[in-house]
Amino acid sequence: MPADRNAELFERAQRVIPGGVNSPVRAFRAVGGTPRFITRAEGAWIWDAEGRRYIDYIGSWGPMILGHGHPAVLDAVQRAAREGLSFGAPTEREVELAEAIIAHVPGLEQVRLVSSGTEAGMSALRLARGATGRSRIVKFEGCYHGHADALLVKAGSGLATFGHPTSAGVPAEVVQHTLVLEYNHVAQLEEAFSVHGRDIACVMIEPIAGNMNFVRASVPFMKRLRELATQHGALLVFDEVMTGFRVGLGGAHAHYAKLIPGFAPDMWVFGKVIGGGMPLAAFGGSRHVMSQLAPLGPVYQAGTLSGNPVATACGLATLREIARPGFFDALAAKTRSLCEGLAGAARAAGVPLVTDCEGGMFGFFFAGELPQNYAAVMATDKERFNRFFHAMLSRGVYLAPALYEAGFVSSAHGEADIAATVAAAGEALRA
Ligand SMILES: *Cc1c(COP(=O)(O)O)cnc(C)c1O
Repeated sequence: MPADRNAELFERAQRVIPGGVNSPVRAFRAVGGTPRFITRAEGAWIWDAEGRRYIDYIGSWGPMILGHGHPAVLDAVQRAAREGLSFGAPTEREVELAEAIIAHVPGLEQVRLVSSGTEAGMSALRLARGATGRSRIVKFEGCYHGHADALLVKAGSGLATFGHPTSAGVPAEVVQHTLVLEYNHVAQLEEAFSVHGRDIACVMIEPIAGNMNFVRASVPFMKRLRELATQHGALLVFDEVMTGFRVGLGGAHAHYAKLIPGFAPDMWVFGKVIGGGMPLAAFGGSRHVMSQLAPLGPVYQAGTLSGNPVATACGLATLREIARPGFFDALAAKTRSLCEGLAGAARAAGVPLVTDCEGGMFGFFFAGELPQNYAAVMATDKERFNRFFHAMLSRGVYLAPALYEAGFVSSAHGEADIAATVAAAGEALRA
């Protein structure tokens, strides 16, 4: 039998790159098997090193909302590249991108551009601490905000003890100010604020959590979170790296503002879609808070490649396309039809499966009801998920290779792609 090209590349990769990958989830450790090495992509499809084509529901983990190789985006990137790859000096395009981001997010007055979601989240945290003069921060179990030291932490036992590092190399002292709470647990949140309220600089949250598959913050929880943060002078930071410009043009913030009158966070973190597939992210808030940043204020933050001219061209072209009238209605309808198709296929096969989606982001669980927190997500049927993942992959459907990751539909996914996915799911679930 001729050697599989993916397996050969994986062998070679493991000799020079730890685990063969530059980001752990790509190694397929959760589901087992050989990661596919991708050679090219077009529209809704990606091709692996064996020349096999897959319908792509990862979309680079969110950025590729227009599908791969959208002509307007490619054109903007190619033109920008010819003008210069990086200057380390300000450009008009950075101003345009900042204006475009702010235009769609009511309450957001200024942004600073950086190169990754991790960098944006880490900087937002420093700014929140600098602006409030407080040290403590609150995050929720199952939410991912990038791999900054202070955020690689899991819950301690009870509210008296702060978090424990989830990575070697993070000293306990570095996470001693991080309080980790259960998502959607109102009473615990109230208790945390009553004990630590005066010391809390910020609460960081994924409003619709895409790093535990797909879990929405309930409306009562979000409402109470806003009240408590305001009451205690803590900043509410929405990590919209995944949901921003993905669940709708105004992100999760606009979604909750429809459900809770007058609702807005104090700070935002963006990434993924705003870079359209190039390294670009941002954090922002009111002019008052943002003026604490260097060179205006005492909070230091900087970046050699920040606001890169090619990345900003890519982001701008992407935002221009998704701001067209009807874009999100069409994308949301497509995503819903995928979820309904998956649920229907599962019903027909007698397999318990629940789905949820918003805009172009979706999740599905092998469970009887939608989980409301991380523990419930991790209690869903992992063996079944892993078998389903491989059954779909072998039928040309590329889903996220771990049960705690969300899925993404792009505007390039056609009805035929959705139908083929649902048909594959029907076969996979029966098998
Ligand atoms: C992806 C992600 C990040 C980290 O972004 P990177 O660009 O991978 O550093 C942070 N927060 C959320 C919610 C994310 O989904």
